[in-house]
Amino acid sequence: MDYKKLADLLFPDVTLTKEDLEARYPKRELKDGAIVTRFAPSPTGFLHIGSVFTCLVADNFAKKSGGVFILRIEDTDQNRKIENGVKLIIQGLNRYHINFDEGVDVDGNDYGNYGVYTQSQRKDIYKAMAKYLVSIGKAYPCFCDEETSQRDKAIQEASKELIGYYGSYAHCRNLTYEEVEENIKAGKKFAIRLKCESNADHKIVVEDAIRGTLKLSDNFNDVVILKRDFLPPYNFAHACDDHFMRVNLVIRGDEYIPSIAEHLQIFNALGFEPIKYAHVAPMQKMEGNSKRKISKRKDPEANVAFYLEEGYPVDGVREYLLNVANSNFEEWRKANPDANIDDFVVTTDKMSKSGALFDLPKLNDVSKNVISKFDAQKVYDLCLEWAEQYDKEFASILKENKDYAIKVFSIERGTPKPRKDIAKWNETKSAFGYFFKELYKPTCLDDYAFNYEKFNKELLKKIVDKYITIYQQETENSIWFGKIKELGVEFGFADDMKVYKANPEQFVGHYGDVASIIRVAITGKANTPDLFQICTLLGYEEVIKRLKLASEILSN
Ligand code: GLU
Ligand code: ZN
Repeated sequence: MDYKKLADLLFPDVTLTKEDLEARYPKRELKDGAIVTRFAPSPTGFLHIGSVFTCLVADNFAKKSGGVFILRIEDTDQNRKIENGVKLIIQGLNRYHINFDEGVDVDGNDYGNYGVYTQSQRKDIYKAMAKYLVSIGKAYPCFCDEETSQRDKAIQEASKELIGYYGSYAHCRNLTYEEVEENIKAGKKFAIRLKCESNADHKIVVEDAIRGTLKLSDNFNDVVILKRDFLPPYNFAHACDDHFMRVNLVIRGDEYIPSIAEHLQIFNALGFEPIKYAHVAPMQKMEGNSKRKISKRKDPEANVAFYLEEGYPVDGVREYLLNVANSNFEEWRKANPDANIDDFVVTTDKMSKSGALFDLPKLNDVSKNVISKFDAQKVYDLCLEWAEQYDKEFASILKENKDYAIKVFSIERGTPKPRKDIAKWNETKSAFGYFFKELYKPTCLDDYAFNYEKFNKELLKKIVDKYITIYQQETENSIWFGKIKELGVEFGFADDMKVYKANPEQFVGHYGDVASIIRVAITGKANTPDLFQICTLLGYEEVIKRLKLASEILSN
C-alpha cells in the first residue's frame, strides 16, 4: 500500500507537515528541572475549587522551577461551551493570584509563542498530524457508522469479549486503496483510527509524579484520533498540544489514568517523546465516617463562587489549599509564621495519592488565622469590598463610619495574640455589628446574653441602674475596672477571687460576673474584646443610652 498516496486521498488540502510544526514550535530553552505545565479547562464557566487547587500546585511547580504555566482552552466539545466561559474561568483564577505565562486572556487574545491556545483554532495541526500518521501507515480511515459499532458492541457483550475496535472487529483496518477511494467517491464520511500494535495481555509500567509506579494494561483498541467532523477527541488533541506546546509535565485529574496507555501509544506513533504525568486525585470530603469526592451537584463548596459569596479572603483560601496540598505545609508555616505564602515550595512527593481532604471547619481555622494577621485598614478594605457586593446596608454603614470602623477593627489587633473572631467577611456584621448604632437594636430579653439562670432579671436591672449613676468615661482601665468591683461589692459580689473561691456560698458571685453583666448590658454579647476599649470607642453618651435601654428591657 502506498500510504502517502492514501494520505493525500484523505487529506487533499492539507499541506502542513510534521516538520513544519516541529520548526514552528521549537524545543524550549529551559534550565535544568524547569517544569512546563498547563491548565486545560473546557470553557463551561464553572470553576471547581479542585481546579483552583490544581492550578495553585501547577503554578507553584512552574514558577519555582523557572518553567512555564500555560492556559489552554479545550473547547472541541461544543456542547459544554457557554458564553463568557473562558473569561469567567480566567477571572476566577486571577482572583487566587494564578496568572499564566502563556495562553488566552479575558478578551480571547493569545499571548505566547506556542499558540494558538484554543483547540477549536488548532484544527490544521490535528489534521496535519493525522495525515502524517496515515502517510507512515500508522493510522487509517474508518467508514463504520454508529450502527456497526453498536452491533459489534452487542456481540462483544454477549460473548463476553473485550469491547472495542480490534481484531476481526476492526473492519476498516485492511481496506485497500481502491476500497477507500470507492467509499470516498460514494460520499461516505470517515474517522481516522490509530493502528494499535499491542494487546490487552501486554502490561506497561509508568512512573507518575504523584502516584508513583503504575502498572497498567496496554491499549488494544484502534482508537479514533480524528472524528468524522475532523475534530480530535481528547486523546489526540492532548498528544499534539502537549507536544507542540513543549509541555514536560501533564498535571491532570486521575480519571485519565486508565487512558495513559492509549495516550502513550499515540505519542509513540507520532514519534514524540513520551510525556510525564502527575495525576491528581479529586478533592475529598468526609460524609459520616467515609470519604467521598466533592461533587459539583451536591456540594456548594465545590464552586469557587461559594468562597466569594461567603467572603473568604483570597489569602485564607490559598493558605488553606496549600495546607492540604502538602503534608509539610503546617510545619513550614510554624517555622515561618510571617513568610509570604508564595515562598512555600510545593512538591509532588508530599501530595496525597488518594485526594486531598477538604474540610470547611479547617478552612475556617486557617482563614481566621490569616485575617487575624491583617491590619485594620486591610480588614476594612476587604470587608467593604465584599459588603458592596453582598450586603449593601453594611457597606454603607462602613463607608459612613470609616475612621470609627477602622478603630473597631483595631481592637486587640497587631498584638502578639490577636483576636481570631472572623473567618470570612459575612461574619463581620455579627461579630462587630454591635459597635455600630445603626446595627445595635436589642428589643427583648433574648437579645441579651445574660446568664438568667444565675442572676434574676430584677438583680440584673438593679446592677445596671446603679452603674448608670456611677458610670464615667475613664481614661485608665484600672480605675474603670476598680469601679466595677466596687459596684459588685454593693450587691454582694466578691472583689477578690481567692476569697470568693474559699467560700463561694457567701457571695452572690464574683467581680468577673459583674463585668460580664455590664458587658452584656452594653453589647448584648457575652464575649467581646476588651470592654474598656469598647466603652471608650462608643463614647459616654452611647454607653449611657445602651445601659438605659438594657434597664428598660429588663423591667418588662
Ligand atoms: N479538558 C480536560 C478536562 O477538563 C483537561 C484534561 C487535561 O488537563 O489534560 O478534564
Ligand atoms: Zn471501520
